[in-house]
Amino acid sequence: MNRASNEFKKRKFVNVFSGNLAIFCSDERFVEATIDFLKEDLEIKTCDLVVVAGGPVFIAQKESSLIERLELLINFHQIKKIILISHENCGYYKHFYPELSSQNLEKFQVEDLRKSLNFLKEKGIEGYAFFAYTEKDQIFFREIK
Ligand SMILES: [Zn+2]
Repeated sequence: MNRASNEFKKRKFVNVFSGNLAIFCSDERFVEATIDFLKEDLEIKTCDLVVVAGGPVFIAQKESSLIERLELLINFHQIKKIILISHENCGYYKHFYPELSSQNLEKFQVEDLRKSLNFLKEKGIEGYAFFAYTEKDQIFFREIK
């Protein structure tokens, strides 16, 4: 059957939840590298996404509307594993903490990641946290424990 010219067929629909979720910042400079990192280095082939300015900071800062949505996903998509990724030079952090140097900002972000990991641990979720940074013209990911 011919489809209308304003309809576009894409890939096959797979009706399965992997139980994986990745939370990261919407900053386009890091998005593609982050998805490559999830697939190639963490071997997470599919996952739910929460992509929002500041990424996982909303967990550490207990932003209730986003926490509620996170809990919905955890319950309805049977999320078991969550990957949290913050990145260097994040506009969200720079906006809210303009007085911090980039080194202190990074320390602050790492602390937020650890707080968020604890939140996940309390919920019985397997959590992993990473900090994305640049060196020359490459993006790297460092695990935060
Ligand atoms: Zn950002």
